Amino acid sequence: MIDVEIRRQQGDFALEVAFAVPAEGVLGLVGPSGAGKSTLFSCLAGHTRPDAGRIALNGRVLFDSAAGINLPPARRGIGVIFQDGLLFPHMSVRGNLRYGARALDPAHEARLVEVLALAPLLNRRPGVLSGGERQRVAIARALMARPDLMLLDEPLSGLDAGRRDEVMTLLEDLRAQTAAPMIYISHAAEEIRRLADRVLSLRAGCISGTVGGPAPRPAVHPFVPAPPAGAARWVG
Ligand code: ADP
Repeated sequence: MIDVEIRRQQGDFALEVAFAVPAEGVLGLVGPSGAGKSTLFSCLAGHTRPDAGRIALNGRVLFDSAAGINLPPARRGIGVIFQDGLLFPHMSVRGNLRYGARALDPAHEARLVEVLALAPLLNRRPGVLSGGERQRVAIARALMARPDLMLLDEPLSGLDAGRRDEVMTLLEDLRAQTAAPMIYISHAAEEIRRLADRVLSLRAGCISGTVGGPAPRPAVHPFVPAPPAGAARWVG
């Protein structure tokens, strides 16, 4: 389970969310600009400290204000992918991939190189890659560490339509082929429709409901039903 119950105040803005969803498939996170999506991501990844609450991933506590636990990002088992596929410019693609690995596993590396079609790129530097290629490398690098959870923050927004479709197809394949569940921020209804098994909608720092979503797939839990009025917690 991805079990989250956190509060954070920043200026006038308060993030106050509580949800529990199975750690499988893709959880879409949607909401207007300023709703708190990036803040929630940053709290999950460990870059931002909530004022209070608890975050647990498959029973492993990543943050617990009452118990004084706040694991650093590198120990959370979470892979993060941003809009522009941040890579180290001075390293080759292969170097970037290996930087992300906890320990080198040649078979795992070979599989990611194949799935993400990276073989022709391995000796190149990020500066000579297209946006779509950079994003594929960033996805592979995050997966090298075998994360328990992947966070993707608008990963397609910097790509043109053709590349977007290519990387989207890849993400669909990854959803089927890797065990790592994903939380996926997007403004694009089409991306959420294609990828997400469940959708959380944020508004003004609070969970406001569920939206959109794909056609039901076998072996996938349904959307989290709307809670009764006044309920503070979502359980999927
Ligand atoms: P989203 O990702 O949904 O667009 P954000 O999480 O980036 O929303 O921002 C949520 C709110 O928090 C916004 O009102 C933003 O202005 C505010 N905010 C973000 N970072 C800070 C900060 N460091 N200090 C004060 N307010 C912040």
